[in-house]
Amino acid sequence: MKIGFIGLGNMGAPMAANLASAGHEVTGFDMAEVAIDGVTMAQSAAEAATGRDVVITMLPNGQILRSVADQVIPVMQKGAVLLDCSTVDVESARAVAAQATEAGLLALDAPVSGGTGGAVAGTLTFMVGGDGEGFKIASELFDIMGQKAVHCGASGNGQAAKICNNMILGATMIVTCEAFALADKLGLDRQAMFDVVSTSSGYSWSMNAYCPAPGVGPKSPADNDYQPGFAAELMLKDLRLAQQAAEAADADTPLGEAACKLYAQFVEEEDGKGRDFSAMLPRFEKRGHS
Ligand code: NAD
Repeated sequence: MKIGFIGLGNMGAPMAANLASAGHEVTGFDMAEVAIDGVTMAQSAAEAATGRDVVITMLPNGQILRSVADQVIPVMQKGAVLLDCSTVDVESARAVAAQATEAGLLALDAPVSGGTGGAVAGTLTFMVGGDGEGFKIASELFDIMGQKAVHCGASGNGQAAKICNNMILGATMIVTCEAFALADKLGLDRQAMFDVVSTSSGYSWSMNAYCPAPGVGPKSPADNDYQPGFAAELMLKDLRLAQQAAEAADADTPLGEAACKLYAQFVEEEDGKGRDFSAMLPRFEKRGHS
């Protein structure tokens, strides 16, 4: 396939590289100077999108996605797929999809889980909203860039799945960290705590797969001085998107809201910036009841 790839940062660059090494003809564009083996660089987003079967975007936020969509939608050929893999607000995802559909394109929102490691290894999970025919066409590309793609329904539903998943993740990470800090104060050994909880009803991905206590459970960023991993500021971005969506949909999400406030405090007022989101544990260790 002829593919245009716009937004070649930490995630986009390895995803584009995997598509190129699988034999697809990839033309890329980024605001920054970028060079990727096997990817031809264009001078503009419009140039990268012209004449392509699929145009993939991997951008920082909904506002930038909307501005790139304004540049690429008018030049894309009818029947081509506009595949946005960024994590953005549901409203922007739906607005861009409507604009693309109006122009005769097949639109998909397909945010990912799996981080930069998954992007490099080609093991991402795609949560996909939008056109069924577009999903069939893009499946071949999902198979190269990832290990699983779930079609979640109409446009915006991929973003909805992503922010709901990450709201659960943010809240379970916080409570796992506060439980470890409580266990410390009660004199309970961390390994014993892990052995019990990971096989009891308190288990979760945060405990079992990404344990925030160093030296306990499988290897995780906690074992690497909390270098991300998944940075606390990216978790904050996703929790804010969840709160924005909850407000727009009039949904009651008190724990999501509390998680959002705590990560905002951690990143903006404390030492959370640049650290993994599981560094909430050393944060709680330092604190008493207040
Ligand atoms: P990044 O900042 O490394 O990359 C974004 C790229 O977009 C940059 O290279 C930037 O120069 C480029 N860009 C910005 N404006 C542009 C424009 N107008 N035209 C062309 N290029 C432009 O970010 P990232 O870590 O690659 O994340 C990309 C998206 O993936 C985000 O929405 C993020 O939330 C999501 N995501 C990231 C991770 C992760 O672990 N990094 C995991 C899952 C999802």
